[in-house]
Amino acid sequence: MAHFQDPTGAAFSAWQAGSHPGIELVDEPGAPLWMDLMTTDLDVAQRFYAAVFGLSYTDASSAGMRYSMFSVPGGARPAEPHRPRQGAIRAFRRAPCPAGWRIVAMVPVISGSNRPCAVCRRVHHDLTRVLGTSAPDDWLAVSEGERMEAELTPDVCILPCHGTTRHFIRGHIQLPVVEPDPDVFVWSVWTEVDEASMECIARSWSDPNRAATAPLSGWLATELPYEQPTRGLQLTIYTRDPGMAPLLMVSAGSKHPLAGEQRDGIALHRVAEFAELLAR
Ligand SMILES: [Zn+2]
Repeated sequence: MAHFQDPTGAAFSAWQAGSHPGIELVDEPGAPLWMDLMTTDLDVAQRFYAAVFGLSYTDASSAGMRYSMFSVPGGARPAEPHRPRQGAIRAFRRAPCPAGWRIVAMVPVISGSNRPCAVCRRVHHDLTRVLGTSAPDDWLAVSEGERMEAELTPDVCILPCHGTTRHFIRGHIQLPVVEPDPDVFVWSVWTEVDEASMECIARSWSDPNRAATAPLSGWLATELPYEQPTRGLQLTIYTRDPGMAPLLMVSAGSKHPLAGEQRDGIALHRVAEFAELLAR
């Protein structure tokens, strides 16, 4: 580990990760979610971090503030097309304090905003980040006898059903929260997979390299509070490192509102609405 100071005065540390675990953890409480550099000289900072870390930038300046979002090389992962950016550099004409980095960590709630909501005028804060079910919907539909033969863990469900065996795994559908502040909401849902996919998942379950598994296909097995049914929606399953639920992507071609929300993001108001719809 070494400590450095960039030419605008902000301190940062770096280390050669090698085989030593770094900060690869994402979407779990405590993991870094977003990084911000506050500085007075955007151009100098951009050139410095591009030369040292290979950052690339997207300008997102608004009236009165220069704001530049950055991505690390290879940072845009196929499962997270809406989250290709890891942070931003924001420029102040005069710094409110010495130039510095700020790291935003994932917490189990979305802290929200103290400003009244643009839709309902209420103030939404401390909303639950992850909502979902602890079993596939069909778990409740089978008979007591069949359930005796079944297996349910927090991540996997094997369900004998009318003479066949059905296979389910739990995963995350991430919806980017795009206003008023960037964040992420997660539907924790179940997806049905065929037997071959289940065998593949079981084989690589403890493999430290399992995130390299080719994406699999599945069908959403959880009814979510949308006007159109969500069960049966085609999903692509991206396996992640051990300990992390796979990421689920609704097919890009789907006309279902859930696909649109996953692609374009939602407002904070919608997160409050989800909690209310589920409580009914
Ligand atoms: Zn609202």
